[in-house]
Amino acid sequence: MTRLTRADLDALPSYVPGRSPADLARELGLSEAIKLASNEVPYGPLPGVVEAITEAASTVHRYPDMGVLALRTTLAERHGVDLDRVATGCGSVALCEHLARATCLPGDEILYSWRSFEAYPIIAATTGAASLRVPNNAGHGHDLDAMADAITDRTRMVLVCNPNNPTGTSVRRAQLDRFLDAVPDDVLVVLDEAYREFVTDTDVPDGLRAYGDRPNVVVLRTLSKAWGLAGLRIGFLVAQPEVAAAVRKVVTPFSTSTTAQAAALAALQQSEEVHRRCALVVSERDRVTEAVRKLGIEVPDSQANFVWLPLGDQSAAFGAACEARGVIVRPFQGDGVRVTIGTPAENDAFLAAAEAALA
Ligand code: PMP
Repeated sequence: MTRLTRADLDALPSYVPGRSPADLARELGLSEAIKLASNEVPYGPLPGVVEAITEAASTVHRYPDMGVLALRTTLAERHGVDLDRVATGCGSVALCEHLARATCLPGDEILYSWRSFEAYPIIAATTGAASLRVPNNAGHGHDLDAMADAITDRTRMVLVCNPNNPTGTSVRRAQLDRFLDAVPDDVLVVLDEAYREFVTDTDVPDGLRAYGDRPNVVVLRTLSKAWGLAGLRIGFLVAQPEVAAAVRKVVTPFSTSTTAQAAALAALQQSEEVHRRCALVVSERDRVTEAVRKLGIEVPDSQANFVWLPLGDQSAAFGAACEARGVIVRPFQGDGVRVTIGTPAENDAFLAAAEAALA
């Protein structure tokens, strides 16, 4: 057949959505399977969110507010920045892609640590940019000094994932200060803080507060994780006005839906409940980390809502063994396994499966 699509995409790995719990439960003959594979929070939509979506549903025959004014205003006030510095998108992953489109021409470079978020190489490749990958350090985190050294004349954007998906590691204030001082002014630094709400180490900087005024820094956040809106696809960024305006130009029109806007406004009124839920996740994260370490695995400290098991060649087999026991985790072949923190009962089921898998 005549080729219709780009040949270079053949070699590009797909984003892996993870196994469906319903399919696995059916296969194993269980009433339900446990999904600890996508870094969601397990407690259901926040109070008021379903009502807000229901109310917004009566207007879905109309396009959404493309300016996303009410939500952007709320976010701007919440973070103490001007409205023109805020942009929203169909998940923060879409915003990351928009930033690449807004900064890179074919042949330019996007620099990131590896292993990190699996969308980064896909975003670079589909933008036509080259991926410059700096290997993670021995502790599974970013080597910011090596990243600064790797910047070339063609580097347009650097991605710093803090905390890092999938390893849970984070970079500290002094390291990041030094790194940002070393990056040339014409290179955009994206601080991807999808897991910010789970950070408890006070030495891990909040990018918005610490670096929001640096002209070449963009902070990416999402409502998919702590705020429980993964299914509605909504993220936001804070950048200098020119960068935010460029992003709003390349954004897919109307990609922040009416229901997403309404749900996000309702969710953002629930800060206290979000803090309560995050505290539960954090205490479970620490419990799971200790328990897995007792099984002999060197789990790096996590500041996110997941833990990383650096199992190397055993990763795929470990993932399969957990699935056979009804628990879906996220293996990265040849490297490690990422396990999302769920409810205490879900975590117990994972720990039992892990013990059996490693026996
Ligand atoms: N950044 C990181 C580091 C992530 O792990 C994720 C989700 N897995 C995202 C961004 C994207 O989240 P969303 O598109 O749901 O906002």
